Amino acid sequence: MRLSFHGADRDVTGSCHLVECAGRRFLIDCGLYQGSREIAEENAGDFGFDPASVDFVLLTHAHLDHCGRLPLLTKRGFRGEIIATMATNELARLVMLDVARLQEEEHRPRHGRDNKPGEPLFTVADTLKSLESFKRSARYGEPIDLAQGTRATFVDAGHILGSASILLELTEAGRTLRLLFSGDLGNAGDLLLLTPGPPPHADVVVIETTYGDRSHKPMDASIHELYGAISDTLSRGGNVIIPTFALERAQELLFVIKQGIEKNRLIPSMQVFLDSPMAISATEIFARHLESLQPEAARLFREGGDPLVVSGLHFTRERTESVALNDVRGGAIIMAGAGMATGGRVRHHLKHNIWRGECSVIFVGFAAKGTLARQIIDGQNPVHILGEDIPVRARIHTINGFSAHADQAELLKWHGCTGAARTFLTHGEEDAMRSFASRLGTKTNIQMPALNQSFDI
Ligand code: ZN
Repeated sequence: MRLSFHGADRDVTGSCHLVECAGRRFLIDCGLYQGSREIAEENAGDFGFDPASVDFVLLTHAHLDHCGRLPLLTKRGFRGEIIATMATNELARLVMLDVARLQEEEHRPRHGRDNKPGEPLFTVADTLKSLESFKRSARYGEPIDLAQGTRATFVDAGHILGSASILLELTEAGRTLRLLFSGDLGNAGDLLLLTPGPPPHADVVVIETTYGDRSHKPMDASIHELYGAISDTLSRGGNVIIPTFALERAQELLFVIKQGIEKNRLIPSMQVFLDSPMAISATEIFARHLESLQPEAARLFREGGDPLVVSGLHFTRERTESVALNDVRGGAIIMAGAGMATGGRVRHHLKHNIWRGECSVIFVGFAAKGTLARQIIDGQNPVHILGEDIPVRARIHTINGFSAHADQAELLKWHGCTGAARTFLTHGEEDAMRSFASRLGTKTNIQMPALNQSFDI
């Protein structure tokens, strides 16, 4: 049996791990590299294995850095089956088609304008073909037979809707091995998603380490900080900009803002803009998966209400509606992607608001090294946005209690439950990994694989 690493190795994006057992090949995730090198050479580069040789892809969740290279995998010859939970399947369709449209848009010839060189990484047609490979849906806790001697069990990871850790039970030459991939692990304080139970036992674990070196503030303190930042900004006459993708914290933030208005902790007269073409569809998918939601949110959906719709909420799907937000000078919360401000509509909102002292920018997700979000958080001033140096005068807040990722204590607890004797650290920056490794101690054999490194297991 072999395990090899083809993305998110000492890095937080591009998750892609290959397992070989009894002549079959299983890929866990096939994500896009994001950040300062978004859609760059690394994405277009060789996978490090032959896509046509892969029998199954098991997808942990629908974030772009876990599913975004699937269309490319298909374009380069993959003809096997992709298995995910139903919610992941539905969300991945949105995410993959969205990135394909962006790719086509970026490379579309335009009169009088320079075009990006080269072809799009993949097209909408490639993506639709890839989506045809989603044939079976996984249910949490129910094993799926993949090939003789191999079965997979998806268990709830509590990270985003549909997210899973995946246990592979592998048998080769009379030896059986339990190999568990954490996927991205959720923050136990999540207000919308149910908190998952402990993970299963495993011999070998591949675990994410995004916040391997940090502790989150409790959710109550984070909510208090959010309400304070919003109220202060609105009373100064400014706007609040929150960089976030539709599938990251947007739904949870809407839920918290709605509760804030109902409990008189936020003024009801503000406008809330969710500037994302995906937002409406993503919210509809939430409403179809009440079994994954916390009782309060599920109850509100069941009673015909929508816990994610705030008074004064506007979904801006069209580009012209998004551009019109440039004229809103105050009294608004604007949520837009990308979460790390590496691209997308949020860069326009930052450009129009970050130089104004009455405004504020609230970061609620992870910001990788080299991204615009990280530069702003680290205090860089001025910052370079859309070809201009813009002074930073807005108040900058980082509220990591809303993070979709487990913190160090939660990761340690999860790992402890698995009892794994061997551990591979992935999906983290090197400092976070080293800190986490030192906390794991000597009770497990730890490795931090490099890109394309391969191990006998
Ligand atoms: Zn994720």
